[in-house]
Amino acid sequence: MVVTPLAKMKASSTFRFIFMATVCAAFVNLPAADEKRAQPFVSYEEPVASYLKRIQKGKQQHAFHPAVDVAAWQKSARAALVKLIGLGQMRDELAGFEVKVSQGKHNTVDGVFTRRLCTIETEPGIRVPFYYLVPTGKQRPMALFIAPHGHDKIGLHSYAGAFRNKKHREEILAREGHIAAQAARRGFVAIAPATRGLANEVLVPDPKGRHGNRPCRAQLVHCLLSGRTPTAERVWDMQRILDWAVKQPEVDPKKIIMIGDSGGGVLTAYTAAIDTRVTVAIPSCSFTSVTTAEGYVFHCDCCLVPGLRNWGDWKELAGLIAPRRLLLVHGENDSLHHRPTVDALGRQVKTIFGYSGSAAHTELKWGTGGHRFYPEYMWPFIAQAFEPGPR
Ligand SMILES: [Zn+2]
Repeated sequence: MVVTPLAKMKASSTFRFIFMATVCAAFVNLPAADEKRAQPFVSYEEPVASYLKRIQKGKQQHAFHPAVDVAAWQKSARAALVKLIGLGQMRDELAGFEVKVSQGKHNTVDGVFTRRLCTIETEPGIRVPFYYLVPTGKQRPMALFIAPHGHDKIGLHSYAGAFRNKKHREEILAREGHIAAQAARRGFVAIAPATRGLANEVLVPDPKGRHGNRPCRAQLVHCLLSGRTPTAERVWDMQRILDWAVKQPEVDPKKIIMIGDSGGGVLTAYTAAIDTRVTVAIPSCSFTSVTTAEGYVFHCDCCLVPGLRNWGDWKELAGLIAPRRLLLVHGENDSLHHRPTVDALGRQVKTIFGYSGSAAHTELKWGTGGHRFYPEYMWPFIAQAFEPGPR
């Protein structure tokens, strides 16, 4: 068929009309919640707006690209990440250190599992407590479930269901925050460790309030001065706990689930990206791009990795987890995160997993509440990962 210029003009104007009508209709019918979501998360005035966009673009030296060989990209991007966060330096500094674990007495909880408070010395003088929960009467070995907490000074006690008092119990049960205890009841060996810089037992004090009376910010400052990051210290601790855990006779080292909410989710993402022993990673209310399109930084200061944008972004953290399992969970009413940013990231993550031949191994789920766990999405995802047959 020969298309005349006039026919082209008519077709073009018809297309423009249909397009504009569709766009207008979409806006007219936009529900209030969607309209709110479509708003920028924050706005900056000039010249700050342009300045942030320019400097935070970064070199993206390890950004995932479809043309790369996934395994080769993972190898170089992972090595660069280990160096960037200061974990490589920690490995060098602590190469000769002998990690020690001491185990406390165990209590039996409702006849369903045993719970003991243990301690692991992960570097000289740094003793990180963790609860170790083992289901009773189950066939061994069992899958391991490790759940680091976020900005909750009694987070390990909350996750383990070792409540301090009635109020603590009621608060945690109301938001299903006793995630490790839930896992033990479901037949997983569960670990609820203290997260360095966030739990009372392993805080870096902030004398004179120089760092805003925020211990996790004090941890950041001291780490940066020393060539490390809190992220590296936390990943180091989790890896040393995993070293110990996989040697326990009741643990199946080929089935390791890592899960955490908020700062615990950030730690889950980094640990799973770096340590391929993690089979299933479930970062809750945490997995997002480093910034919004406007340049707003989402995570707490203590999660900062200097120069991360020269390396890549969170889609690359996800890419390092593929083809293992990654479930991203968020809450629709979580004011700390921005749904359009997370949804866009979720699509990028799916694409990267597709290039590794495992698109079905990642999902993004939205709970209807706020900044909390959504166990109803977690358990089916974990069960699916361990179903017999091809994965
Ligand atoms: Zn923090």
